[in-house]
Order: sequence, then structure tokens, then C-alpha cells
Amino acid sequence: MTIHIPFNKPYMTGQELGYIAEAHGNLHLAGDGMFTKRCHAWLEQHTGARRALLTHSCTAALEMTALLAAIKPGDEIIMPSYTFVSTANAFALRGGVPVFVDIRPDTLNLDETRIEAAITPKTRAIVPVHYAGVSCEMDAITDIAKRHGLLVIEDAAQGVTSTYKGRALGSIGDLGAYSFHETKNVISGEGGALLVNAPGFAAQAEIIREKGTDRSRYFRGEVDKYTWQDIGSSFLPGELIAAFLWAQLEQAGRITDERLASWRHYHALLADLETDCWLRRPVIPEHCVHNAHMYYILVAPHVNRQVVLDTLKQAGIGAVFHYIPLHSSRAGMAVGRAAGELDVTDALAGRLIRLPLWVGLTRANQEEVVDVLKRALRVGAQAGNA
Ligand SMILES: *Cc1c(COP(=O)(O)O)cnc(C)c1O
Repeated sequence: MTIHIPFNKPYMTGQELGYIAEAHGNLHLAGDGMFTKRCHAWLEQHTGARRALLTHSCTAALEMTALLAAIKPGDEIIMPSYTFVSTANAFALRGGVPVFVDIRPDTLNLDETRIEAAITPKTRAIVPVHYAGVSCEMDAITDIAKRHGLLVIEDAAQGVTSTYKGRALGSIGDLGAYSFHETKNVISGEGGALLVNAPGFAAQAEIIREKGTDRSRYFRGEVDKYTWQDIGSSFLPGELIAAFLWAQLEQAGRITDERLASWRHYHALLADLETDCWLRRPVIPEHCVHNAHMYYILVAPHVNRQVVLDTLKQAGIGAVFHYIPLHSSRAGMAVGRAAGELDVTDALAGRLIRLPLWVGLTRANQEEVVDVLKRALRVGAQAGNA
């Protein structure tokens, strides 16, 4: 059967092509034109970041943070193993060693109580990843970083419009990174942003993003020529991407609201299954406001996840698992190391299923997903875990 309720369906606000036509008409196609400036201003206003800079991707923004942090071979960077490849790869590119720490069983975020045991004289930074757009315990993490003289670099790829105690994710650490990939909430196909929060990084971030030159200062008329200042690369997107993104940022509030409505509907529909011990629903700490980036479930240990996924697929529903923990991946084992046991990561990674969630998903769609899921869980329990 073909999939009739896909896992993700990119949402367009309707203004994207109009703004792209405007950028086209402006004859400014390279980066840092009018639309990029609008996006920067929006991000700075809505997050409180000192400086926001559009990038090609969150991956690119994380690579910029590794350059800004001056990561050298052998430097250690503390992060969860339960994350996307780019969190670790950005630092490994500079010879950094990802040090994988276990996650909390409730939010699946970096377990702040296990960070200190992983710190060595080589540790340079802590990289909290806000899984599903739900914040890590940033007060505790910031406090540890201060006491040990470490940078905090937030992988807020999934966290656009989410907050922790009223502060935007990505704006709390020294540096933060957003993603506007097609699978995220606010999109531009491929796209991302670096948020610079700590003083002292903004000028260098501009240089790194512009091939290691001070071209940004030249464009502002602050210098009369631009030259090679530092090592960098080309991290900025062109104006057509920024024009598309502007159409999305303008509607970010509504996109979040619509996703939240779907998230809450799943949460209500699945309450009984949790009571009956078929699955565990997401946990949102009280001080975290999330953006409904994802609705995931953890199937009970006696349920065979693959059978559940196959049953959903056969019914035309696009549900998917998520990360293979990095400490058990080929590259992760080659360049990184685990700090202690990663029991929670190992126990939960194999039980997680993400359900379809996108703007335009109907309540009837969701009810169908949950009906099929109920049947799939029974089939999965019969199959058991070999
Ligand atoms: C999506 C994602 C990334 C990568 O984002 P891109 O924009 O595709 O580079 C990095 N980290 C996390 C946690 C993500 O979810």
C-alpha cells in the first residue's frame, strides 16, 4: 500500500514564490541582501541573540561554532550520543573528540547530572541538543560550564520558537544553531542560522562566514577594502533562500500554533495507551515551552518496534524511528568516546517511533494513525522481542 499519511509534508505559507520573485527583481542574488537582513532582524528580535547569521544549514552553523571555539585536535566536546550526526561531525572535522554522555529518561536530552564526570583537562565545550524542541536543563548546564571554563554551544536545530524559562532556545549558551531544513518547523529547503550570544564572537563570526574575509565590514562601509583575516569558508546562503525563509519566519507563530494543536490531539488520544502500559508519551518539563517539532512515543519493552513500524507502513502511515546512537556508529567509535555507560540511550533508542506531524494534518488523519497504532502495538507485542 502506498503511504497516504506521510511522516512529513513541507508546509508553504503561500508567500515564498512572491518573495523569491522580488529577490530576483532586485538583482541581488548573492547573500546578505534585503531578505537576509530581514531574517537576521527577525531572529535577533525573537531570540534576543546578540547577532544572528543565516547559514546554508544547521550543520554549517555548527561548523562555524567549532571554528569560533578554536577547536584543535584532541580537544573534547561533551554531547549526547542520541543526536544527529552533525552535532559531532562539526567538531570532528577540526580534530575534536566527541565525548558522549547519556540522556535523561524523561526528555531524552543530555543528562546534566552526568556531565561533570565526563569533564577532563581537554574538555572545551558542552553541546546540549534540545530534542524534539524541548529544552535541556540550561541553568544546570550553564552553571557547570561557568565553573569549568567551558563554552556552551546549543544545537537548537529543532528548537525554533521554543523557550526555556522564557528564553529562546539557541540564545542561552555562548552560541546556538538553528536548522531550517525541510523536515523542521520553519523551513527553506536547506538552511540554518548561527546565533551569537556571548560578547566577543560576533565580528569573528562574520569573517568566518565570508570566506575568512572582512567583506561584511566593507559592505557596511567600515573599511575601504576587504582582505583575508582568518580561516573561514562560505557559510552564507543566497538571497533566494533567504526570500523563501522570510515567508516562513513571518508565519512562524501560526506554524507553531497549528503544530501544537496536532501535538496536543495526539497526546490526548494516546493517554489510555500510556495508562495501559503500551507506550510512554513525551514529557514536557513545566519550565519548557516547546514548538511541537515532533510527536514521538516509546513503545513498551515487550513490543517489537520493527513490527509496529511495518504494520503502520502496510496501512499507509509514514511513522519512522530516529537516531542510531552515535557511540554505536562506525564514525562515532572511530573519532569519539562514550563517557561511562550510556544505559538510557541504549535502552530507549530502539523503542522510539515518530508519528506523522505537519501543518495540514487533520484530526481524522490523527485518529486513523492512532487506530492503526493500537492494532500495530498488539501485533508487535505478539511478535515480541527476539
Ligand atoms: C536537523 C538537525 C541537524 C542538522 O540540520 P541541517 O540544517 O540539516 O544541517 C543538526 N542537529 C539536530 C539535532 C537536528 O535535528
